[in-house]
Parts: sequence; C-alpha cells; structure tokens
Amino acid sequence: MSKFLSENLINMKPYKPGEQPRSNEQWIKLNTNESPFPPSANVEKLIRSYDAEKLRLYPDPSCDSLITKLSEEFDVDKCQVMLGNGSDEILAFSFMGLCNNGVAFSDLSYGFYPVFSDVFNKKAKIVELNQSFEIDINDYEGLKQTIVIANPNAPTGLELSQKDIVKLLENDKERLVIIDEAYVDFGAESSVKLVKKYDNLLVIGTFSKSRNLAGARIGYAIANEEIISDLNAIKFSFNPYNLNRLSIDIGTTAMNDKEYFESCIKQIKLNREYLTKKLKDFGFEVLESKANFIFVKNSNIIGKEYYKRLKEKGILVRYFDLPRTKEYVRITIGNIKECDALLKMTKEVLSEV
Ligand SMILES: *Cc1c(COP(=O)(O)O)cnc(C)c1O
Repeated sequence: MSKFLSENLINMKPYKPGEQPRSNEQWIKLNTNESPFPPSANVEKLIRSYDAEKLRLYPDPSCDSLITKLSEEFDVDKCQVMLGNGSDEILAFSFMGLCNNGVAFSDLSYGFYPVFSDVFNKKAKIVELNQSFEIDINDYEGLKQTIVIANPNAPTGLELSQKDIVKLLENDKERLVIIDEAYVDFGAESSVKLVKKYDNLLVIGTFSKSRNLAGARIGYAIANEEIISDLNAIKFSFNPYNLNRLSIDIGTTAMNDKEYFESCIKQIKLNREYLTKKLKDFGFEVLESKANFIFVKNSNIIGKEYYKRLKEKGILVRYFDLPRTKEYVRITIGNIKECDALLKMTKEVLSEV
C-alpha cells in the first residue's frame, strides 16, 4: 500500500475474478461462465475489414446505434436504455448513485455486490437464502434498502419467479429493485416487460455470457426514463466514452445475427441437460439451473478437493470457499467436447477417492 491511498479505501476487498490463464496455456476453461462459442461470423467480418483510421476519433458517447438495436429488441424507448463497459460498470453506477438507503442482497450471489457496497460506502443488508438456496421474498418485506437480485442467481442458477418480483415491486414503490439478468437468456423469464409498469425497477443485462462477447465489455440497463437519465448523468460525470468505438460496432453487429444467438443458446441448454443427467448418474446433486452453469455437489468429495483434482487434470471450474458452498463447485456449460472431457475426468477423480 502506498502512503497516498485514500483512508476510506484502506480496507477495500477487491473482487477476485476466476482464474484467467494465458491463452497459450491449454486449459479446459469452465470457471467464469463465458460462452464456448465464438461471436457471430458477422463480428469476425466486421473486425477483419475494420477501418482502423476510425479509432482516431472518440466513440459516440450516446452509443446511438447499439441503443437503437437494444430498444427495438426489448420493445422500449431509446431513452429507457443505457450502456456500460460491461454490466459491472452499470452495477457500479447503480451502487454509487441509486442506493440512498443502503443495499440489500443475498448471502450467496454475485461476488461483486459486497465489493461495490464496500467501495461506495453503502451499508449492506445481507439476506440469507433459504435451506434450498432459494430467495424467500418475505425476507425483504419492510426493507428500505435498494434490493439487488441476480436472476437467475449465481452461483446457484436458480430462478426467481416473475410473480415474486412483482410482489417485491408492489411491496414498496419507493424502493428500487435491481434485477441483474446476466444469465436470463439461458431459460429464465426476463423482467424487462415490467419496466413499462414499474418505475422502481432497473434491469441490467450483458453481452458477456449469452452473446459470446465477454471480451468486448458491453452491458446494458433498461428502466424508466428517469432512472436511465440518472445513470447517464453518473456516466457523464465519470467516463462519457465508456464504450469504445469497436465495441459499439461489435455489439450492434452481433445483435443483427439473431439466428446465431438463438442457436448458441439452444446448444448450451442441450449441453446443460446432458451434463446434468450424466453427473446425476455419477451420484451428484445438481441444482436446477436456468443459467449457463450448474452448481453441483457429490457426497464423496468436497468442493475444494474436486476443484483441485480437476485442475490437476487440466480443467478449471469455480470453487467458492464459504461455509455454505464448501461442498459445491460451479461448472460452466462448455461445448460438447468440453462437457465430455469434464465427465471423463470426473469419473477418474471419483474412482480415486
Ligand atoms: C458475469 C456477471 C456480471 C458481469 O458481467 P459483465 O457484463 O461482463 O461485466 C454481472 N452479474 C452477474 C451475476 C454475472 O455473473
């Protein structure tokens, strides 16, 4: 630590991303929920023929081309959409500026929520998931804090019903509910349609998982006009050109290839079913996932050991060293070859314990 670090940041606990090995290392990488599939061929074409000269100029700070696409896709007004450098940035803006009464989120959810609440000095109310790792919305009754829910949740993959989300929204219209839909495209229902009716709802999405573009850093927010205008004010007070020129074009181009997007999702869902069934045959317990990962445990081996042994065999999965999750690992759904490799190595690991 240097002597220059601000006093209020001395105790910060930065987010620890899953391992990102160098690209020259041969890992089967099932640890950070990226897509196993490349971006749309149109994106590749765009990059190959990209006029580098354009990078001389700042990007469009309003990101109009991509916002137009998203507003068409989600059937909302352009003034109801804003973009972030990954959805992490939008979450950061929201924690920074939309959490007057603090923030409430689950004990098991996206690891960035506690980090943001810390760094932006927002008091966090941690609400425990029930025994089955589900959100019980009764636990949020009467809370005044901004509620942040990943739906489907990570690392469990479990979905919260729209009925429950409506109850949360109705319960207190002065309270903001943020639904982080990073994984929604893999089979859960989106809350975007509720934005028309509820001005206390902010939905956040990303191109990182279902749109095969984690490296392009594109996230979006959808809400009523006032919330979006607040988020834009924060963005323009922080980094007006938060999306780079290439990423705006890449996102717009990717959105035009809906057919490819849908075929990737379909394949992930098939592979998820396949992997779930096979792991259950091996004696695993697998939570019912609506995401591109599964959260699994096997009574013969604790999570940390399973993680470690898979790593020795060249496969990276994610282990969370917390009391409630120590029996589990989270496995990203890969392509079929990766799923088969995981199954093969898992069989070996189980025969060794
Ligand atoms: C991956 C993830 C994000 C962040 O995605 P980026 O758009 O890549 O920043 C946000 N929320 C959850 C729950 C995630 O798993």
